[in-house]
Amino acid sequence: MDLIVAADRAGLVKARDALGPGRIALVPTMGALHEGHRSLIRLAREHADHVVVSVFVNPLQFGPGEDFSRYPRTFDADLRTCEEEGVGVVFAPSADDMYLPDRQVEVSAGGMGGVVEGAFRPGHFDGVLTVVLKLFNLVRPDLAVFGQKDAQQLALIRRMVADLDVPVSVVGAPTVREPDGLALSSRNRYLSEADRRTALALSRALRAGAARAGTAGPAGILDAARAVLEEAARFDPPLLLDYLILADPATFGPVGDDHRGEAILAVAAKVGTTRLIDNMVLTL
Ligand code: AMP
Repeated sequence: MDLIVAADRAGLVKARDALGPGRIALVPTMGALHEGHRSLIRLAREHADHVVVSVFVNPLQFGPGEDFSRYPRTFDADLRTCEEEGVGVVFAPSADDMYLPDRQVEVSAGGMGGVVEGAFRPGHFDGVLTVVLKLFNLVRPDLAVFGQKDAQQLALIRRMVADLDVPVSVVGAPTVREPDGLALSSRNRYLSEADRRTALALSRALRAGAARAGTAGPAGILDAARAVLEEAARFDPPLLLDYLILADPATFGPVGDDHRGEAILAVAAKVGTTRLIDNMVLTL
């Protein structure tokens, strides 16, 4: 079946109803699609008969001074990617169509929305959850696929679905990386060659921490990761660390010394003008 492009909410509702019977999977994105997005779409196709991909750079989740206006927009290439991957509907609304001029109500991400990544990006997760809930209500999917690359986002979406009884199954997808370890991100296209060399320290630090998970406790894991990041702080350009945390996957608070089971080693840093995040799930 041919790919249907819906440019507004009314068009989406029509396109959704034209899909016919079967399970529907939603893959929300901000476009500038890469292999990570493709892997989400493939996972969605394994779980469903029809895949809807949204391409929407959501102004609500960008703070003042963040990269909303320069965020990469590659819509024609995104459409080709979706066609190649067998997507049924691409939903690409304008911000004016998505948000009513007199809108008032937003989803609050609660305490977990204000820590770690949320402490550096106030309001970010409220904006994410608000757009995701709107997308759920518009598409009415059976399931939705999100990347582990944005671990706190994935955890908060699971929280929203549980706390607000949202009838959508949430499927998490593993992080796709370049052969040298760099996690794929739409923002990687901002990186110069020198930036990219520095940026490799993020995944290197996570691997150094992960290598100690079998033998060391949280402090030892963090020390190993921090050593790599401190070295990269002396590179040109330098890595400027926002945070390194070993977080409880349920709360995103720091894990205690007695923590057992999964923990998320998460890092965020600026390299040049680009802010990057990455994480790995460890078992303690
Ligand atoms: P974005 O377009 O960056 O908002 O991301 C859309 C979805 O793709 C989110 O669920 C992300 O977690 C996911 N994603 C982004 N980068 C990757 C990656 N390298 N591997 C897997 N999923 C990713």
